[in-house]
Amino acid sequence: MIAAVVKRTCPICRRSAASRDENPYFPFCSERCKLVDLGNWLGEAYRVPAEPLGDGELQVGDGELSVRDDDGDDRSGGE
Ligand SMILES: [Zn+2]
Repeated sequence: MIAAVVKRTCPICRRSAASRDENPYFPFCSERCKLVDLGNWLGEAYRVPAEPLGDGELQVGDGELSVRDDDGDDRSGGE
């Protein structure tokens, strides 16, 4: 019987990655690629809002966090 050795390639750099047993960064080839992938994930997370925002219902009081609408302008209610 032949043990099925599936050759894995790192999804980031496409180089061959060691198996899960000997590679703590599986399915990536190295820590670096794992971090790159994590960075990609975070980038996506920031791009996609976690929950739908009502228009104008969100109030940011302290001014530490600035949230911009799509229009970006402050002309609310004006002509
Ligand atoms: Zn890699």
